[in-house]
Amino acid sequence: MNEMPSRHRLDSPVSGQELHPDNLAFAEDLLERYQDDPDSVPPAWADYFRSLEGAPRPERRRRSTDRPDLAHEQLQIRVLQFINAYRYLGHFGARLDPLEREPPEPPRELSREHHGLDQVGPDVTFDPGSLFIDGRVSLDTIERVLKETYCAGIGAEYMHLMATDEKRWLQERLESAHGHFGFDDDTRLAILERLTAAEGLERYLHRRYVGQKRFSLEGAESLIPLLNALIQRGGARGLQEFVVGMAHRGRLNVLVNLFGKSPEELANEFEGRPRDDRGTGDVKYHMGFSSDLDTPGGRVHLALAFNPSHLEIVTPVVEGSVRARQVRVGDRKGNRVMPVVIHGDAAFAGQGVVMETLNMSQTRGFSTKGTVHVVVNNQIGFTTSTLKDARSTHYATDVAKMVNAPILHVNGDDPEAVVFITQIALDYRMRFGKDVVIDLVCYRRQGHNEADEPAATQPHMYRRIRDLPTTRERYARRLIREGLTTEDAQEQALEDYRGRLDAGQPVALSLLRERNSHAGSSTNWGPYLNQTWDQDVDTGAPADRLARTLEQLSTPPEGFRLNDRVQKILDARVAMARGEQPLDWGAAETLAYGALIQDGYRIRLSGQDSSRGTFFHRHAVLHDQETGKAIVPLRRLDPDHPRFLVIDSLLSEEGVLAFEYGYATAAPEALVVWEAQFGDFVNGAQVVIDQFISSGEQKWGRLSGLTLLLPHGYEGQGPEHSSARPERFLQLAAQENMQVCVPTTPAQMFHLLRRQMLRPYRKPLIVMTPKSLLRHKDAVSDLDALATGQYQTVIDDARIEDPGKVKRVLMTSGRIFYDLAARQAEGEHADTAILRLEQCYPFPEARLTELLGRYPEADEFVWVQDEPENQGYLEFVAPRINPLLAVRGQTLHAVARPPAAAPAVGYPEVHKAQLKDLLERAFGPISSRDTPHPTP
Ligand code: AMP
Repeated sequence: MNEMPSRHRLDSPVSGQELHPDNLAFAEDLLERYQDDPDSVPPAWADYFRSLEGAPRPERRRRSTDRPDLAHEQLQIRVLQFINAYRYLGHFGARLDPLEREPPEPPRELSREHHGLDQVGPDVTFDPGSLFIDGRVSLDTIERVLKETYCAGIGAEYMHLMATDEKRWLQERLESAHGHFGFDDDTRLAILERLTAAEGLERYLHRRYVGQKRFSLEGAESLIPLLNALIQRGGARGLQEFVVGMAHRGRLNVLVNLFGKSPEELANEFEGRPRDDRGTGDVKYHMGFSSDLDTPGGRVHLALAFNPSHLEIVTPVVEGSVRARQVRVGDRKGNRVMPVVIHGDAAFAGQGVVMETLNMSQTRGFSTKGTVHVVVNNQIGFTTSTLKDARSTHYATDVAKMVNAPILHVNGDDPEAVVFITQIALDYRMRFGKDVVIDLVCYRRQGHNEADEPAATQPHMYRRIRDLPTTRERYARRLIREGLTTEDAQEQALEDYRGRLDAGQPVALSLLRERNSHAGSSTNWGPYLNQTWDQDVDTGAPADRLARTLEQLSTPPEGFRLNDRVQKILDARVAMARGEQPLDWGAAETLAYGALIQDGYRIRLSGQDSSRGTFFHRHAVLHDQETGKAIVPLRRLDPDHPRFLVIDSLLSEEGVLAFEYGYATAAPEALVVWEAQFGDFVNGAQVVIDQFISSGEQKWGRLSGLTLLLPHGYEGQGPEHSSARPERFLQLAAQENMQVCVPTTPAQMFHLLRRQMLRPYRKPLIVMTPKSLLRHKDAVSDLDALATGQYQTVIDDARIEDPGKVKRVLMTSGRIFYDLAARQAEGEHADTAILRLEQCYPFPEARLTELLGRYPEADEFVWVQDEPENQGYLEFVAPRINPLLAVRGQTLHAVARPPAAAPAVGYPEVHKAQLKDLLERAFGPISSRDTPHPTP
């Protein structure tokens, strides 16, 4: 809100003939505030404005019209109110629907009568206040400008913005043009040319691939001139790179006409030929693409994100990718890399991840300094009628109001209006660094896809669509009428376009043939391609360096007042650094980050409580208890180039995990870690796991080294906070798509995180991280264990002195190892060895075979797990371990909680009894209960 300008501060309305212009501006400002919140203006002004309201009531209307002596200043205020009504509500009267169906009645506030202005003659002039026109003008002129600005092909919603400067900026752009966009002939012909390309491609594909799914753009062809204008203007304004996300509709058209994908490549995809011999591939309308275009500002790089059928999930992926690219080129203001996301109307309103992503847009850890959102609003959701069934809001875009984004609705059959608001949207984003939405109101000429019969469910809509000329035809007619072109020339243009396609020539404008694969901020992925998981790499770091680093990280600056509990933890870390006590989990994990930073890597760690650690173990950010000042010791390792970012994320899983995936696919040089508060929280992000993390490389050849830390462990916390569902990751594990690991010591965690960067192997890493082990007296490591060695995929039993005497081998993963080891230590179980499987996938077959071979006399092999028999690791490991035992004539027995629907019991006593039973069975005689179902 504006401060009141004191020079003109008036506690009550003036009386007199006319308002002074300065006071008018003041009154107008008050009026706007009054309309937002009547209590925010001085009471006398509120009374005054209230007295002017209610014109619809008969007595008021009578009063306004019957009083010829109504003071001019009162009329003037009403005129301001009239102007304001258009700014707030004009979009409801805009002609946005290309189908020209019966529009709803515009609000009464847009009528003169409502404001008591219906008797004002053409000779009375008014100060237009902040309306962007010059001089005193008649009410007729004011009304015309308002209608041209707000009620023609553009419906601008922006009065919900809180920042007055943004509102004024938008008003100036919209009102000073008032529907007269001033494009020169060349620009207008270029718009027509892009519409010809858009329509031409669909016609071509329609003829050539009859009935094949392509999710045609027809009805929304203006998207092509829109995107073209966006990229060209963005380039002129210094942007060097765009990452674009979009769902199916129109994707092939965008790929060919904007990105310059060759028609031949597209033809191959239509004919089902594989792109290359790697991977399982994906359908053509999911494919991403990269290209470089020439713009008035030079070369720009375009990257279209690969996209699953889950419509909106690509939105946060694009944001993450952009953020990574911005970081790489030091683009703190978003002036070089920008996201563009193209949505469908039903999905934008329907899918919660849109809200999650919007909510990220201005946060420290996730902002990309503004996204241009384009909603391709074909006014139908598959077969769902949008207004009656698809949403409860008036517009599909209302959710964007939550972040104060301006929303520019535009009639898709008014291509000049489309280009005009695209320019405004881009300029707004560049100037204010915030999201903006273009709602391209259009239609879908075909059904949901080309095999569909839309008239079956929407007969009226499709009858109208059948008779509707195309956007190109309409616009061409207009330019022909105005003498800019001829019918013949336009027929020829369509022919020429088809000819270029037939000849296999690119049809995108300004395409740079010589693509620079490292243009913009793209990174070289070459070193990471075709790597295998089993390469050895030494992940240790010099012990003295580690000790120094740990001490440094645990010693805040002089005078920094830590919380007592945190102080204790840091004191202990200093003792660990000095070799006075072994390292715990928090120390080892912190050191892994520190050592990676010292090796030149960047770390990005996000999660809902990641800076402190949900279990109070990390403390990556320290808070001075007096001043509230926060410091991040890991950023001080190299203060000039801090390479550590820890983010307490918004309370989202799906959106944030998708963001981090997008980030990791664009940042092989960074360790990108997402941490779940409890492991089961990842359930809310299952789509990201299924559609991207586990399958992105196979479908699209896109690597990612994203690391998930999922606290997992059966510690009596009940069904929700016990299991990160390792079984679900293991069920998805194939073709070396990811790594699923369960480290049980601090040193293992250190080596695992280091390995994720030091190996040139970028695969998602799913880590079942501990809870109680964070503070378990035995879950500790010496500094030396960090200094040398590497991650052990299977840990042997170090307590066995004579392996030849071992009769039983227990195999397990995770927390329960410590209970088993304690039982082993207290009882007479020298003949029982315990192996820890610390990497479940890729399954370390060779290493396990080697370790099993150390126990030649063993004839009982038991898998022990905390999890119920139908969950956890058993069903994955049994078919992999059994073949190793078969050569000895043995099969695997299993000790697990009984099969269960929920991950864990809710009653602590039952939990304890179950654990007791597990431990007894692990060491007791093998019974029929312990034999798993035969496995294939
Ligand atoms: P982009 O900057 O996304 O357009 O990527 C440029 C090029 O880098 C692509 O054409 C790919 O060859 C390669 N590339 C980008 N991201 C990845 C990734 N995550 N995995 C493998 N290769 C990638």
